[in-house]
Amino acid sequence: MNEQAFHTNFLTLCGHQQARASLQKGGRRQPFPSLVFDGPSSIGKRLTAVWYGAYLNCLAADEKAPCGICTSCKKILQGSHPDLHYTRVPEKKTVVGVSEVREAIHEIHHAPFEGNYRVWVIEEGERLTDEAQNALLKTLEEPPGRAVILLVTCLAGTLLPTVSSRCRLVRFQGLPRPEMLSALQQQGADDELAESLTSLCDGALGAALSLLRDPKSLQERDSVIGLFAELPGSDLWGAVEAAQTLEKSKLQSPAAVLELGMSFYRDLLVLSAGCEQLVLHKDRLSRLQELAANLPPASIRRAISEFQEAEQFLQRNVSPRLLMQRLCVNLSKVSV
Ligand SMILES: [Zn+2]
Repeated sequence: MNEQAFHTNFLTLCGHQQARASLQKGGRRQPFPSLVFDGPSSIGKRLTAVWYGAYLNCLAADEKAPCGICTSCKKILQGSHPDLHYTRVPEKKTVVGVSEVREAIHEIHHAPFEGNYRVWVIEEGERLTDEAQNALLKTLEEPPGRAVILLVTCLAGTLLPTVSSRCRLVRFQGLPRPEMLSALQQQGADDELAESLTSLCDGALGAALSLLRDPKSLQERDSVIGLFAELPGSDLWGAVEAAQTLEKSKLQSPAAVLELGMSFYRDLLVLSAGCEQLVLHKDRLSRLQELAANLPPASIRRAISEFQEAEQFLQRNVSPRLLMQRLCVNLSKVSV
């Protein structure tokens, strides 16, 4: 499956029954033309937008749509339907600017090529510049006939009030734990891994699936946790070496490395308080138990405060190399 098809495979959409029911309630004759999908990131909002585009254009009867097998659904699944448009942050850019929006507005004003509606999915709406949002206003005010605009965002509060007031808001919440577990198991995760990913990703199935599909990122996560776990009581040279490795970690960012390390030490604290059921890194339980038995709670708390301090340094733009060295050296001094 190519990358585009992976992003448009609405048949893999899990949960969000309430949002889907409210969208279907509008029927296919007169759908609301401008919608904002708001909720935490990686929980399935964008895929719901694709699903809705498929629903509006499916050739099957209302109660069967989207069927997944008609020519319209198939094209959407392949990411090749001419009436579904996606606007996303261009490569090497961090925002969606006015030129991308104007280009899409031009497209959306044409009648549908072959479907019932032209559907325009704007991804990461929080990254639209103010200028781009202003360029959208007229289209939201007077939407072209047979066009539906879906603005997907994890921060609806950052949209200009003039934009959000012209759209109907559909709220999304993270996936409940049982649905996360079963979706991950269906995708091949064993029970232990499914438990860990479910706890780590907190309702964000998209994030959990990315980890599952990319074994390298899982290995990287394991090696980062392994390095942090070995630090208390290690010698200075070991600490400096660990800092060098952590600084070059291929995890998303230094902030992600710190967050992961801190979550591991939080697990130690939770274990030392006897609350095993609250542990996030369940696949590391035996190592956690071993460490929790050797580290006094005061040392664990000190380690956590070292992480908090490192996060503050990061926010103040201290170089990741320096703060990682400081963190690792201080963690090595934590008494065992
Ligand atoms: Zn269909």
